[in-house]
Amino acid sequence: MEIAATIAEFRQARGRLGRLGFVPTMGFLHEGHLSLVRRAREECGAVAASIFVNPTQFGPSEDFSRYPRDMERDLALLRAAGCDLVFTPGVAEMYPPGSLTAVEVTTVTDTLEGAVRPGHFRGVATVVAKLFNIVQPSCAYFGQKDAQQCVVIRRMVRDLDMPLEVIVCPTVREVDGLAMSSRNVYLQPDERQAATALSRALDAAAALYKAGERDAGRLRQAMRDVLAAEPLAGIEYVSVADPELLSELETVSAGALLSLAVRLGRTRLIDNIPLPG
Ligand code: AMP
Repeated sequence: MEIAATIAEFRQARGRLGRLGFVPTMGFLHEGHLSLVRRAREECGAVAASIFVNPTQFGPSEDFSRYPRDMERDLALLRAAGCDLVFTPGVAEMYPPGSLTAVEVTTVTDTLEGAVRPGHFRGVATVVAKLFNIVQPSCAYFGQKDAQQCVVIRRMVRDLDMPLEVIVCPTVREVDGLAMSSRNVYLQPDERQAATALSRALDAAAALYKAGERDAGRLRQAMRDVLAAEPLAGIEYVSVADPELLSELETVSAGALLSLAVRLGRTRLIDNIPLPG
């Protein structure tokens, strides 16, 4: 496995590989990330990953400086998962002084995470566009865990005619249902227990849908009820939205996206499930 910290080094190593699958990450890897690497390995000739905690997607009061990092462990996990090439740039390599350009996807960034994290998706779209230009992948792999991010990246790729395929992979969960996340390490033991409320809330709403309920308001209420029964959980939003436009629905249709954001102490967690299409 080759490791490149500069764009020039990466381009040289990338030149020796053909068709490439790409997995962008912020590091502190877990099984969710590794599932993307394995999928890329199955589907592409070679796999590249990036590890970059992107400052421009964090708000001023968010956790950029304390975001967990462990480069040595990450590299060992990527090597074991069969990654061929890793890009590990520093902030100055990605954002040299004087840059005047950003990528902004509109409308689908106004709701959900975009509404509570202003500027977040501008940072995400810009860094992912830069990474795509550096890596030049045939396929890029993203997790359903960050559903709105997947919608934004798909739109960007389509709208800017980027020559690659975006592949969305299922959310990998702990045995008790908690979606894996690098941020789960922030949770105190009581918060970690309470965190199962996120997937339980989604499951409760999905069960109602399966039983025939089509009123989106009732699904939202079912999610709120489960979360409200967990004293440590502070609801930021619960949503039943159109899977492409991300606008709230009144009547649930197949493929609708159930999603929520919850605060547990200082930690903010998100989760979602798409209803069967
Ligand atoms: P991050 O390092 O959090 O930026 O995540 C990098 C990629 O891994 C993104 O495409 C995420 O959606 C994906 N990812 C994160 N957690 C999971 C998970 N539990 N299951 C599947 N994919 C995930």
